[in-house]
Amino acid sequence: MSLPDVLVVGGGIVGAACALELAREGHRVEVLERGFTGCGTTATAMGHIIVLHDSQAQFRLTRWSQELWSALADELPGEVEVDRCGCIWIASEESQMDWVRDKAALYRSHGIEVEVLDSLGLAQAEPSLRPNLAGGLRMREDLVLYPPAAARWLVQRAVDAGATIRTGVSVRRVSGAGATLDDGSTRAAGCVVDAAGTKALELLPEPIPGLQFRPRKGHLAITDRGPRRCWHQLAEIGYLASAHTHAQTSVAFNVQPRRTGQVLVGSSRQYDRHDTRVEPEILARMLRRAIEFIPALAEMRVTRTWTGLRPATDDRLPLIGPVPGHSGLYLATGHEGLGITTSLGTGRLIADMVAGRSSAIDPAPYRLDRCLEPQA
Ligand SMILES: Cc1cc2nc3c(=O)[nH]c(=O)nc-3n(C[C@H](O)[C@H](O)[C@H](O)COP(=O)(O)OP(=O)(O)OC[C@H]3O[C@@H](n4cnc5c(N)ncnc54)[C@H](O)[C@@H]3O)c2cc1C
Repeated sequence: MSLPDVLVVGGGIVGAACALELAREGHRVEVLERGFTGCGTTATAMGHIIVLHDSQAQFRLTRWSQELWSALADELPGEVEVDRCGCIWIASEESQMDWVRDKAALYRSHGIEVEVLDSLGLAQAEPSLRPNLAGGLRMREDLVLYPPAAARWLVQRAVDAGATIRTGVSVRRVSGAGATLDDGSTRAAGCVVDAAGTKALELLPEPIPGLQFRPRKGHLAITDRGPRRCWHQLAEIGYLASAHTHAQTSVAFNVQPRRTGQVLVGSSRQYDRHDTRVEPEILARMLRRAIEFIPALAEMRVTRTWTGLRPATDDRLPLIGPVPGHSGLYLATGHEGLGITTSLGTGRLIADMVAGRSSAIDPAPYRLDRCLEPQA
């Protein structure tokens, strides 16, 4: 077995995107995945390819990544289930319409196609919503896809470009020169990208003071097939508060139409839960919230429920870049609830860093140095 130039640890959507970008540049890439492609948080996600503007840095990475997905969309095979359905942020009350108008102006100033819907416009766009909602913001360029199939496709493209993937291989430790596997063997490489999701920091050579994240558990439920209940990804504006709060537990209306006639229902956020068991109380709160917005959901049967753990940083930005003090070692993790979207931008940033060139967006806000505790 010849030595790889780059070892990518983790075959989730982020590792897959990094592998593809690096393989395309001619690097000999090897992906080490302890399970199978996309089996981690990626398998549990909603797959909303979203633009958010909680901060400039978040906006740049989500927008750039959405453009990259959009450019790829026509190439993605049917199993990735791409749907350019757009998203509507729903204002329940008139007071939230200021947010709608402000965001519309902001997004338009960046050339993003948006539309302000009044109460009637919202009801026409989504007849199953309960009456008398104040309006909404339609994001026409948002899309949805099926995350594990997208990760498999990215890995396959990386393999087509010369990469190899070894599944069922668990890594114990990474360094800038390779990885030590759980069986005690080592694998040398020119450099290493640690994209092991919620496990990424545990694999570092030593703990780095200040560098940390917390798992943030999310529940999802999917209904059986039925007459189409919604046409866009739908989320209440309160979802943003739920995503951005540091409150221990929060629940918000966020649903996605599937092409099959099923409805994917989310979402919840709970900090510091390390187990993935479904919690009936949280699930019930989440479903009740969804039914408040789409009463007809009460007639549908939930066929499956599950949870996933989002790798969440304190400042809600991912960790993408060289690990200080370990030449050749890079981290690509901490994407919380946006990693399906931002995987493609992350892959580009990592490939640019490995090549030592500048990127289409400034990588500084995502680099690890921002989190480090000052040395005495
Ligand atoms: C309920 C929910 C809904 C979400 N919805 C969305 C959404 O709509 N849009 C969006 O953009 N994002 C969404 N996300 C976020 C998104 O799922 C994550 O940010 C993303 O999947 C993170 O990808 P990753 O590749 O970093 O991690 P993972 O998918 O967890 O991949 C890490 C991989 O590393 C492997 N690994 C771990 N340890 C080792 C080891 N020691 N050796 C070898 N391999 C190892 C794991 O098996 C895993 O396959 C959602 C998340 C949740 C939980």
